[in-house]
Amino acid sequence: MKRRSFIKHLAGMPLIANAMNLNELKTITDGFQPSQRMPVLFIGHGNPMNAIYDNSFTQSLNRLGKTLEKPHAILVISAHWQTRGTFVSTNPWPPTIYDFSGFDRKLYEVKYEPKGAPELAKELMNTVTSVTIKEDIAMGLDHGAWTVLKHLYPLADVPVFEMSMDFDKPPSFHYNLGSELSKLREKGVLIIGSGNIVHNLRLLDWNNAYGKPFDWALDFDEFVKNNINNRNFQPLVEYEKYGKPALLSVPSNDHYLPMLYTLGLANEKEPIKYIYEGYEFGSLSMRCFQIG
Ligand code: ZN
Repeated sequence: MKRRSFIKHLAGMPLIANAMNLNELKTITDGFQPSQRMPVLFIGHGNPMNAIYDNSFTQSLNRLGKTLEKPHAILVISAHWQTRGTFVSTNPWPPTIYDFSGFDRKLYEVKYEPKGAPELAKELMNTVTSVTIKEDIAMGLDHGAWTVLKHLYPLADVPVFEMSMDFDKPPSFHYNLGSELSKLREKGVLIIGSGNIVHNLRLLDWNNAYGKPFDWALDFDEFVKNNINNRNFQPLVEYEKYGKPALLSVPSNDHYLPMLYTLGLANEKEPIKYIYEGYEFGSLSMRCFQIG
């Protein structure tokens, strides 16, 4: 049964629903799976202030949230959760984490607190076989997650859990681990990689909020785009071989690696479309894409 008709069906049988033990009803909805595989998103999150800005980037997220089938849960792999070993959050009520400093007071007043998804997190731990995924019962939502989700799902009505990135591992590890998460898509989980393809904070040009980027940033962003278009992901795993533009665009790879997880999840025939293209401060690429 398709999701909409399932919900209609439930709405049409109040007497049965009332008579049903609430736990039984929960079991039915927990077992519900969307009719199709969920897409995968890579979101360039950029400036944390985007959480409270109304601009073309945040508007594109808002539109996207309205067009996607509502997921059962969201898994975020964020640039801002790096650990030794790989962890998944099983916190049933992940708090908003303000993992930055020096920003406008208003940013610290934002709360984005959906439920967690501990059962799906445990399912992830069982699904991945190449490495042991450990449990973190206390992790909340870092700003790579909530500044984006606040625009995608403003009501915070979809459960969210995060998986960390092991900073000891090479890019190929992250790409391969991404592919192991594929089954979750069939369980109605929207997987989001949140980072930035080009991310050099040392070279931010404060006088150029949304204008033309540095040549090396444009060069590397185009290199990534062309290889995605050609379904040629290996050069993106071995991005360092691209030389100077790569070195300047990815001075540390925390913001780049979330993209490799999403590419690892792309099936050969799935369409990949760009949902936003742009730059912030000359040295951040805001390119976002949707797989499937
Ligand atoms: Zn960031």
